[in-house]
Amino acid sequence: MRVVDSTGRELSPCSEERAERLLKEGKATMVEGEPPTIRLSYEVEGRPKPKEAGSRGEGKKILLHICCGPCSTYTIGRLREEGFSVTGFWYNPNVHPFSEHERRRECVEEYAGGVGLPMIWWPNYEMVEFLRRVSGRETKGDRCSIDYRMRLEKTAEVAAQEGCDAFTSTLLISPHQDQALIREIGEELGPKYNVEFYFENFRRGWTERGRLAKEHNLYRQNYCGCIYSEWERYRGRGSLEEGASGAESG
Ligand code: SF4
Repeated sequence: MRVVDSTGRELSPCSEERAERLLKEGKATMVEGEPPTIRLSYEVEGRPKPKEAGSRGEGKKILLHICCGPCSTYTIGRLREEGFSVTGFWYNPNVHPFSEHERRRECVEEYAGGVGLPMIWWPNYEMVEFLRRVSGRETKGDRCSIDYRMRLEKTAEVAAQEGCDAFTSTLLISPHQDQALIREIGEELGPKYNVEFYFENFRRGWTERGRLAKEHNLYRQNYCGCIYSEWERYRGRGSLEEGASGAESG
């Protein structure tokens, strides 16, 4: 169901069940026309208003690297608001063990299907290559830099092959990730593959990401991804070198 807030701001779609509940509670009204739309009786903060929204993506095709379902929610909506034609890309050799990788992948598959997002799935699980690359550089920060480069480089490469104008990553939404470093690596790779790296501070949508993840009942992991981050999370004494990250990671 399409949703707008009281100012007419386009929000992410909600389930029919939730729409019915909002209507019943008097928190929304039906708007005439197609597609079926509800208008909330209040303003939702944290997203740019239509007049502030640009059209940086008008006529452009973008490849969005997706790390997990929750982080994709707000990000897909924002890129579409900017006019991009968005295709999702799954490549996360950093997620261990394989069962966890599959759980996150299936979550993305389900959400992407629900919001009509075309996807490209990298066919191989390159955990061995990931572990080889971080070998000897396992501390947080060091290994993350290698991880970002591995995932962004594959995204840039596939974006170029697919004739995309730009590429970006849902990693930019997470306060648990080094956004400045992700941007630096992305902007370095752009010219190499002749595809623009699209940077936006998606973090302003972190709260809405949480709301959408709950609303769509998406699987929310509680460690970043690699075996080191899992160890750091569950041994309860912070990272290999520094403090613990939050209970839910992105
Ligand atoms: S902590 Fe997260 S970002 Fe850093 S290497 Fe592990 S999975 Fe990648």
